[in-house]
Amino acid sequence: MSDEKNNKLAQLRHSAAHLLAHAVKELYPNTKLTIGPATKTGFFYDFLPEQNFTNEDLPKIAKRMQEIADRKLPLTHRQISKEQARELYKDNPFKLELIEKLPGETVGLAEQGDFYDLCRGDHVEHTGLLKHFKLLHISGSYWRADRNNQPLQRISGTAFPTAKELRLYEKRIEEAQKYDHRRLGQQLDLFSFHEEGPGFPFFHPKGQRVLNILKGDIRRLLDQYGYQEIATPIMLSEELWKQSGHYDHYKENMFFCEIDKGTYAVKPMNCPGFILVYKERPRSYRELPLRYAEFGLVHRYELSGVLHGLFRVRSFTQDDGHIFCTMDQIEDEVVKTIESIQITLNKFGFENITIGLSTKPENAMGTDAYWQKATEALQNALDRSGVKYVLQEGEGAFYGPKIEFGIEDSMGRSWQCSTIQLDFFLPQNFDLTYIAPSGKKERPVMIHRAIYGSMERFFAILLEHFKGNLPFWLAPVQAKVLTITDEQKPYATDIMQALTAHGIRAQMDETSDPISGKIKTAQLEKVPWMLVLGAKEQENNTITLRHRTGKQEFGLTLAELLAKANEWISTRHIS
Ligand SMILES: [Zn+2]
Ligand SMILES: [Zn+2]
Repeated sequence: MSDEKNNKLAQLRHSAAHLLAHAVKELYPNTKLTIGPATKTGFFYDFLPEQNFTNEDLPKIAKRMQEIADRKLPLTHRQISKEQARELYKDNPFKLELIEKLPGETVGLAEQGDFYDLCRGDHVEHTGLLKHFKLLHISGSYWRADRNNQPLQRISGTAFPTAKELRLYEKRIEEAQKYDHRRLGQQLDLFSFHEEGPGFPFFHPKGQRVLNILKGDIRRLLDQYGYQEIATPIMLSEELWKQSGHYDHYKENMFFCEIDKGTYAVKPMNCPGFILVYKERPRSYRELPLRYAEFGLVHRYELSGVLHGLFRVRSFTQDDGHIFCTMDQIEDEVVKTIESIQITLNKFGFENITIGLSTKPENAMGTDAYWQKATEALQNALDRSGVKYVLQEGEGAFYGPKIEFGIEDSMGRSWQCSTIQLDFFLPQNFDLTYIAPSGKKERPVMIHRAIYGSMERFFAILLEHFKGNLPFWLAPVQAKVLTITDEQKPYATDIMQALTAHGIRAQMDETSDPISGKIKTAQLEKVPWMLVLGAKEQENNTITLRHRTGKQEFGLTLAELLAKANEWISTRHIS
């Protein structure tokens, strides 16, 4: 989206927040207003109501908003003295605090009809332009987002310039609910959550199969790109985490336990484990770049309130990789890593892959010269790869710049997944060295990289992206063999055996249901291919292939079917 379009949308949504506050003030005059900004996806307003709002209040508030919109009140804006502002807000401690914190002797006041609000300005012309909004939910918040402050109630909503855009948005929300991965996970028997392990997912055979396929693809890529796979322990001593800096920065999110009177932490990241393997013996420049990979199971404490299916869990597997290399090798390594990420993401048919280069943040460690050199190496690698990217100023990690990959799913939502991150500090903290050609000890650079990021989260993104219809190459059951009567069972067994021998994940429907029932079951399981075998097929030694989409192909020979399966797998066919 262009900046101009974004600004227009922000202006509209900011104005819609005023409209919301106006409606609330008319309906509940004793409500105290605080702040109400536009956000990336809509707007919200934080209120201190006399009596808490409930979900039943939302339609009432929305109705009043619509009425005020219909009045087509002009939105005006002017500067008033702080003195006047204090008088206007003498009963509202929040606004008084805001007035004191604003620089200068005057403050801005937005007005529409008899409603007014403190504001910097930039609105649509009149309330009539704000008709296409939707109130979404009520949630709890705190004044200035600080838990020690007054609890408030937040009403969130979104708004669009036209009815058509609002309808499209509503349709997307509906779809997102319908294809929520938690729902699909249960329906397709892929994974579950249990009270006994809050936030820790359980994978069922079919779900584990999909994860294994995703892993298998990464393993092939590791071979291709000269990685060696390692495995490191889940629990490591507290001292190690102090040395790595995680203890200082991340302690609140780590799980700890006691062993033999020592304190150990369950790893929240895999990097220190890699470092111990690197440090196990002296390293020569001849070994660099040294590329290690691990499917590392990490645990992170998350508040129970933020857990969300596989999107936000307390344990997950990273397809982690670390490259130890010299400063001069960074660029080549990053070029190769970008390529491997693109190869992987392209397999899923994501149409819009965005790339961002995040640069030096405010709290950065290290000198400007270091940051410049590191950022330049990433920039050169991106340029050499010929990819488009945006500069995300100040969004790097405190220890180094990074490249982030975002994917847009079929419902228009963006997800950040792959990352490439430069790090000079862990090698320093752990005194990593290699022997240079001169015989002197030098410090290597560490590149952290992950392709899927969290395997579990990536799986969930795929499930929603494909609306449960995993492509043939990824489906846990690729083909289901369905006989019209039990007479065809021997023929079906032969077909099953042939498919299995060719590595096709096939399953036979063993029930005595009528064929319509068997098709219905397979359809609910979202199996890509249904192989229908009746008397005619048995007699002619053929197969009727019924696709998940409803399309049918009659009279296929087994050889033809296998050729098609191979083609669909090798081309990553998406159906
Ligand atoms: Zn305003
Ligand atoms: Zn790492």
